[in-house]
Amino acid sequence: MPARRYAGSVDYAGPVVRSLYLHVPFCPSVCPYCDFHKMLRHEGLVARYLERLEDEARALAERYPGPFDTVYFGGGTPSHLSDHELERVTTGLERTFGFPGRLETTLEADPLTFTPERLRRFRDLGFDRLSIGLQSTQDAVLRFLGRVHDGKQGMQAVAWALASGLRVNADVITAVPGQDAALDLRRVADTGVGHMSVYSLTIEPNTPFALRGVRVDPEREADDFEATAPLLASYGLARYEVSNYARPGDEARHNLAAWRGAFYLGLGPSASSHLPEGGAFGTRLRNPPIRAWLEGAPPERDVLDAEGVLLERLLTGLRTREGVDLRGLRSLTGLGPEDVAPRWLDDALRHRLLERDETHLRATGDGIARLDALLRAFVRAS
Ligand code: SF4
Repeated sequence: MPARRYAGSVDYAGPVVRSLYLHVPFCPSVCPYCDFHKMLRHEGLVARYLERLEDEARALAERYPGPFDTVYFGGGTPSHLSDHELERVTTGLERTFGFPGRLETTLEADPLTFTPERLRRFRDLGFDRLSIGLQSTQDAVLRFLGRVHDGKQGMQAVAWALASGLRVNADVITAVPGQDAALDLRRVADTGVGHMSVYSLTIEPNTPFALRGVRVDPEREADDFEATAPLLASYGLARYEVSNYARPGDEARHNLAAWRGAFYLGLGPSASSHLPEGGAFGTRLRNPPIRAWLEGAPPERDVLDAEGVLLERLLTGLRTREGVDLRGLRSLTGLGPEDVAPRWLDDALRHRLLERDETHLRATGDGIARLDALLRAFVRAS
């Protein structure tokens, strides 16, 4: 499949920070499968969070003044902030970096946190894209996942979001015990959403699901994964990353930038950043969880070297339809996969798990189906 750029995308090369991620850790309820940094809100904690966020933004804006092409409010559940709190955050960002993003400004939202009137408010604040944590349309599946909304409420939320004129993503989880995944995917695609993120249920260590011994049937997971791409393609939603599907031009520009290795700034507890500092290849930083973050504890830092960049670009790029830009990678690091894992590369090309043209290396359909094993083999070989 030929490499392609996406509508509205920019050239992300160069040491400029063009993207901002802001982490809002508060959720209306805590789902038993979730291992993100999240918590229930209480007013004192939210007030301290908002103050610390402003301090952090002011300090970072001295080095990275913006403006940004893409801004992403993720979580947690950013739409669980009140109108007043959201406005305080966006106004603060406007003063420090400039807000909204020039290409895309996304808000993650729970179905029960908005009405048509509130969606107008989101637009007025500068958001142009809503990412809805729908997960399923089936009541029993939603109950199993510990979600508070039911299928009807979720579908109503998607319809409202589409009618509001925002670009809309809907998240769906597959491989859930008792789920008819194809029914969920068809119902969501039928709404006309331009973007879907589809993930298999994963049992992460130390989550309530893990402690209760919940298991995902690997055969069901593989069957659901295999069925997803052709089903969504029949609705014009093409896979452009292993878990992400979009109509042409509706790809998530913020995520594309990160997958291409662009620098980005993260704000908030547990937020990560990739910044052009600390060496030729930049530094990955990760903020501490909320208690330490509120006290001003510094982020963990990992200064990247050439091999680290190569590893990251392969691990993310091979998940995408456009693949890994080998020429860009070599001009940046002086390295290609043949330098660090030649036998892995030969084997993967020979078994048609990978394909290569003059500029890009990408996973074939078979490679995508076995991507985790393929990437684990690369990490072992490199
Ligand atoms: S709403 Fe999202 S972030 Fe919050 S607990 Fe559920 S899955 Fe995790």
